[in-house]
Parts: sequence; structure tokens; C-alpha cells
Amino acid sequence: MPALNYDDKQMFEWWLNCYGVKGFCGLCGQSGIIHTEVVSPGGVPCGGYFFCPCPNGQKMHELLGEDRPNESIIAQYKKHRESQK
Ligand SMILES: [Zn+2]
Repeated sequence: MPALNYDDKQMFEWWLNCYGVKGFCGLCGQSGIIHTEVVSPGGVPCGGYFFCPCPNGQKMHELLGEDRPNESIIAQYKKHRESQK
């Protein structure tokens, strides 16, 4: 799946209006990665690591050319999160 195209002003406005907090991303905290541990109503675990729809996440998605964050990116994300505790 290709990265979102932020030349598309509508998509950028959607992200900003829904998830922008003081100019920062309220989903990923500017890390570009979202980590969820959710389970569907039917009991299927469907969480994981995802690129955020914000400009940071989409630029990472574009540069890495992968649909999901790889193990190296996930390790960096975990290290970043640990440093915030
Ligand atoms: Zn984000």
C-alpha cells in the first residue's frame, strides 16, 4: 500500500483536524509509529505496529518502502518509549 500523499491537502486537513494537538501528532507523539494492543469484538487480536497517518509516519512509510514498520524500526520505537518513562 503506498504512503498517503500529503500533496493532497484534504488528507492533510483530515489528519490535522482529527489528530493534531498544538501542531503535534496526537496519535504517535511525532514518532511516526502507532502501537496498539487491541482485540476485535470477536476475540481476534489485531493490534500491532503501524505507520501513523501523520506526515512523520507517512514519510517513514515512503522512505522505508514497507507497509509496516520492520523489526529495526520497532526496536528504535521501543527504545524511544522506554526513554520517556
Ligand atoms: Zn503521528
